[in-house]
Amino acid sequence: MLRVHTYGSGMGMQAKTSTLQRWQFSAAVLLPVVLALVITAAAVLAFVFWTTTNIDQRAVERQQAMLQGVMATRRGLLVQQLGTVATRNDTVVNAGVILNFQWVDANLGKWLHDVYGHDLTVVLDAAGHPLYIMENGVTVEQPAFEQLAAPLRALIDDVRAMPVQPTTAGHFAPARALSDLAVIDGMPAMIGVMAISSATGTVAQSPGTQTLLAGIKLLDQQASDYLSREFMFENGHFSLTRPDDEARAVFPVFSNSGRFVAFFEWDRDRPGLMMLRHMGPALLAAFIIAAVLVFLLLRQLRQSSAAIEAGRKNAEYQAAHDRLTGLPNRASLDGALARALTEQSAPNSYVALLMLDLDRFKQVNDTLGHQAGDELICAVGRRIRTIVGPDVLIARLGGDEFVVMIEAQEYDVDPTAVASRIIDTIGKPFDLQQFKAHVGASIGIVSAVGGNAEPRELMRKADIALYEAKSGGRNRAVVYEEHMNELVQLQHTIEGELREALQREDQLNVVFQPLVDQHSREVIGAEALARWHHPKFGHISPARFIPVAEATGLIDALGEFVLRRACALGATAPGRTIAVNISPTQLRNPRFANQVFDILRQSGMQPADLELEITESILLDDEHVSAQHLKTFRAAGIHIALDDFGTGYSSLSYLKRYPVDRIKIDRSFVMQLSDGHVSVAITQAIVTLAHAMDLEVTAEGVETEEQAFILSQLGCNTLQGFLFSGGVAAERISTLFAAQDTPAKRRSTTHAA
Ligand code: C2E
Ligand code: MG
Ligand code: MG
Repeated sequence: MLRVHTYGSGMGMQAKTSTLQRWQFSAAVLLPVVLALVITAAAVLAFVFWTTTNIDQRAVERQQAMLQGVMATRRGLLVQQLGTVATRNDTVVNAGVILNFQWVDANLGKWLHDVYGHDLTVVLDAAGHPLYIMENGVTVEQPAFEQLAAPLRALIDDVRAMPVQPTTAGHFAPARALSDLAVIDGMPAMIGVMAISSATGTVAQSPGTQTLLAGIKLLDQQASDYLSREFMFENGHFSLTRPDDEARAVFPVFSNSGRFVAFFEWDRDRPGLMMLRHMGPALLAAFIIAAVLVFLLLRQLRQSSAAIEAGRKNAEYQAAHDRLTGLPNRASLDGALARALTEQSAPNSYVALLMLDLDRFKQVNDTLGHQAGDELICAVGRRIRTIVGPDVLIARLGGDEFVVMIEAQEYDVDPTAVASRIIDTIGKPFDLQQFKAHVGASIGIVSAVGGNAEPRELMRKADIALYEAKSGGRNRAVVYEEHMNELVQLQHTIEGELREALQREDQLNVVFQPLVDQHSREVIGAEALARWHHPKFGHISPARFIPVAEATGLIDALGEFVLRRACALGATAPGRTIAVNISPTQLRNPRFANQVFDILRQSGMQPADLELEITESILLDDEHVSAQHLKTFRAAGIHIALDDFGTGYSSLSYLKRYPVDRIKIDRSFVMQLSDGHVSVAITQAIVTLAHAMDLEVTAEGVETEEQAFILSQLGCNTLQGFLFSGGVAAERISTLFAAQDTPAKRRSTTHAA
């Protein structure tokens, strides 16, 4: 079962994350801001409420204190009013010693009622009995007074008990007087009592004969109106019961003895409430504006944070994906691989990497253009997807390199089978917008079981396997094996050392192996072979370092070096064939032909004496440049030999297309030549065919006389091998050439058999 990870479309995920983000935004920003707003509003409201009630309360208290003062003043005033008459000498005479009723009525009763508005005026004798009573400007009889004056009694007794102060010269004796509050006839009232006595002391009064003057002012509506008007109490009046109304303020009035007399009540003054009424709408407006501003601010904040988030997402996406195909890139793959290896640590869980590289992609790009190349890359991505399904990670590492990461339970999936299906699908032609393109794919496979691997190591191994797949003929998949790693290690060492050797004079050399005419056994030419003597590793075989030079591009320099040495020799031995091995990589280089002609010219060697040895793979490559080079060389008279014949496809049909001058039968055939062996028949067939196509035949690796004999019998033209000589120094070859007469007419013996 393939493990499911969403590597396809991320749209569903995005919708989910945006809801999540909105929620997170609400939780992280909206909620605290709204909460702060509500708390602030509540705090402001509470403060306003507290302030207004406080102000209102203060206002009531201030009015109550004022009322207290006013009542005291009013009572003082009442006594003063009594004093305007009670301390006069004529009052003492007319209302003290004897009671002159007419006089009293005119000067006390009427005076106090008319001028000061007293409601009741009473003159009492020393024992406290009323002598004269006036009520509301009318004199009344004594019995009526008794019920009226009950509350007056205590006050009268108190004044009578007050000691008489002696009068001193030049000073008025202080009056004996008191005031109080009381309920009279069901009505609250101010009362005042004063002893009638001469302020100047000029009218003598014997003790115990002093009369008293009492005055009463009712706290009626008139008095209330006066208070309200003068001291700005709204609708104030006295009442005996407490009003049951929140809007009314109340002040209790007590008598001297502390007895409740009445309430003064008025419309409560509420400056705080008034202020609130005025301020309220403005406050509300301020709140609404603040709320709207905060809302706008939050919206802006959310929009910009959403934009930032989207930007971040986009940057994240760009950083993790390949721009061209939209597939995950190398960084994503690294992350996914690391995750997969840690997650898939169950003993049978399995991660496989298929590293894929297109064959001939460079040609598509070079010949059809970059746009076609880009189109092809995208199409390849889509084709891989059809094979692996939507849940498998396909990453593009860049160029024409892809990696498929398969996560599975072991044995559930066969990566080799997947790889071959991918190779099949990519091998089919691609219909691009303007062109049709043909490419192949090479795949390196590596797998890890139970998370038992290091991501980078796994990638490196996949890369090695891919290299192996490519160098082993392309269009195939190779599973990584440990020995491949060793090869790579060695290659690394060789590459560095070879690079250095090419810079120096003392390590690389060229030897020449003689080519011998089968008939005359004369040395008719030689093959140049590169030699490398390393100071530490000793002799390193070309079979080792030539592939490394080819893979790293060092072959161009090495090839030039060998060619120069070969041509230097060839120039001194006209008429002898000097063969030089050419690798396919050299032949693909567009500058190669010029290089060869330059060296020939510089050395002075005849082109007809030079023979370039190529291998079959060049013909298989079907490269335009290579084929062009071969034609140019042949046109210039340079010979072409097909080396190692019999080891590859050995298709003679290629020889028709790219005519060569010679084939060199590989050593592996020669080794097996003994009587009756099948190799004899094969070799015979090759020689016959080659001769039919007018090609010369050379046999390589001849080690015994028997082999030499058989090969001669079979009609091989030239022989090469340790039987005659291995590779020798140029001087030695020159000596060998010189030892023979004029250059052997090497091609004259052709088809001798
Ligand atoms: P090749 O071109 O087929 O060269 C012949 C190889 O067979 C040489 O090995 C030679 O020493 C060896 N040989 C010749 N006669 C005998 C014999 O009787 N018995 C045995 N056992 N071996 C024999 P060498 O020099 O090790 O070269 C190996 C290969 O390396 C060459 O095969 C050639 O393909 C490549 N090579 C050598 N020098 C160069 C070079 O300068 N350029 C390129 N491109 N390739 C080179
Ligand atoms: Mg050769
Ligand atoms: Mg060979």
